[in-house]
Amino acid sequence: MYKCSLERMSDKIKTFSKFGDAGHGGITRYSLSPAAHQARQEFVKRMEAIGAKIECDDVACMYATIEGSDPNAKRIVMGSHCDSVKNGGNYDGIEGVMTGMEVLETVVAENIPHKHPLTAMIWTNEEGSLYPPAMMVSGIICYDYLPDYLKPNFVYENMMKSTPMDESEFATFGDALAATKFKGSKENRISPEKYCAMFETHLEQGPILEDAGNEVGAVQLVMGMFNYRVRFHGFTAHAGTFPMAKRHDALYAASAFLCEMHKRFDELNATMSQEFVYTTGEIYVHPCIHTCIPDEAEFSLDVRHPEPEVLDKAMAILKELAAKDWCQCTCDIEEQWKRDAVPFDKRLVGFVEESMEELGLKWQKILSGAGHDAQFCAYMIPTTMIFSRTKDGLSHCEPEHVSDEDCTAAASATLNAVLKCDASDEF
Ligand SMILES: [Zn+2]
Repeated sequence: MYKCSLERMSDKIKTFSKFGDAGHGGITRYSLSPAAHQARQEFVKRMEAIGAKIECDDVACMYATIEGSDPNAKRIVMGSHCDSVKNGGNYDGIEGVMTGMEVLETVVAENIPHKHPLTAMIWTNEEGSLYPPAMMVSGIICYDYLPDYLKPNFVYENMMKSTPMDESEFATFGDALAATKFKGSKENRISPEKYCAMFETHLEQGPILEDAGNEVGAVQLVMGMFNYRVRFHGFTAHAGTFPMAKRHDALYAASAFLCEMHKRFDELNATMSQEFVYTTGEIYVHPCIHTCIPDEAEFSLDVRHPEPEVLDKAMAILKELAAKDWCQCTCDIEEQWKRDAVPFDKRLVGFVEESMEELGLKWQKILSGAGHDAQFCAYMIPTTMIFSRTKDGLSHCEPEHVSDEDCTAAASATLNAVLKCDASDEF
C-alpha cells in the first residue's frame, strides 16, 4: 500500500485557500473568475514541476497527465472542480483537484510503476453559482450519454448564453470562456475513446461519516430526486375588514398543506431502513403586504432517495394532497426537474473499498445526496467517488472544514484504488 504525503497535502490546502479568500475563513471563487484563474495557474505550476503534460479542452477543463508504461492503455483520471459558491469553503471541489495532484506527485516521487497514463483534472463550472446551471460543463461534455430527460438542460448553445447571477465583467458564460487563456480544443475533452475510469474525491458535505466515527466513505451511488413547485390560489382582500370564514387565504392553505405533507412523509420514512429527505427551501407569497390576505402562495419541494419506488410513493402522497381542498384554495403542482439515482461502477467501488480496508482506514459505504460532475461522467465512462469526513457536516459555507489528515487519508485511498484499477485486466 502506498500513502500520500500529509506535508504536501497541507501545503496545497493552504495555498489554494488563498485564491478567492474572502477574509473570514472561506472563499468566493466563481468559475473563470480571476480567483479561479489563480487556482488554475497554481495547478499548472505544480503539475509541470513533476513533468506532467497540460492540456485544456474547448470548455476550459484542464488535464495534467503523466505517461504509463503501456502506450495503448487509456487514461485513468481523478478530477473535481475548482469553483465555489458565494462565500463557500476551502474544500468543496478543490479537494478532489488536490487529490488528483497529490496522487500524481506521489506516483512520481516514489516512482510507482503503472501501465495507464494518469490524469489530474479540473472540471469547469460545477457550482454554476455565477453562470447557472450547476454541473454545466459535465452536462455539456457528457451530453450524448445523458438520459433524454436531462439533455434539454445542457444544450451547448444555451449554456453559452448563460448570464451571470452576480457581478462579472462578461455578459455570458460564452464570453467568459472566449476570454480565458485556459480554453483549448474540443479533441482534448474527456471521452470514452481516451479515458477508461474517473475517480472524484470530495468532502461528504453531511454529518454521516463524522457521526459514525469514520474518516472516509466509499460512495455507492448518487440519490435520485424530484423537484416540484406547489402553488395555491385564493383571493386577496383587506386584512381588517374581511371575515375569517369567507377568506381564501393562499398562505394559510400552503402552510396547512406543508404540515400535512411532512406528517405523511415522516410516516413513510419511519417504515424504511434507508432514510429519505424532503425540503421546502423557497416560498413565494403574493401580494406580500401585511394588510392584505395572500391570494397566491407557492413553495418548492425537493425529495431525494436512492430507490425509485420510494420516490414514487412520495409522489403519490404529493398528488393525493394536491387534489384536496385547502382552506378554500385550489392547488396545482408542477415538476421542475428530476433525476434517477446514478449507481457508480461496481468494480471501481470495489477497488475503493479494498483500498480503504487495506490502508486500515475507518470507512463505510455511503450514498451521495448532492449532485457532482461524477454523476454525469458515470453515464459516459466507469466512474466512482470517495468521500472524506466533513467537520460538523457543514458545506457551501465558510466554516466548511476537512482536516489535513482526513484529506490525506482520502487521497491515499484514491491512490491505491487507482493503482488497483491500473493493474486490473478489465481497464
Ligand atoms: Zn463540489
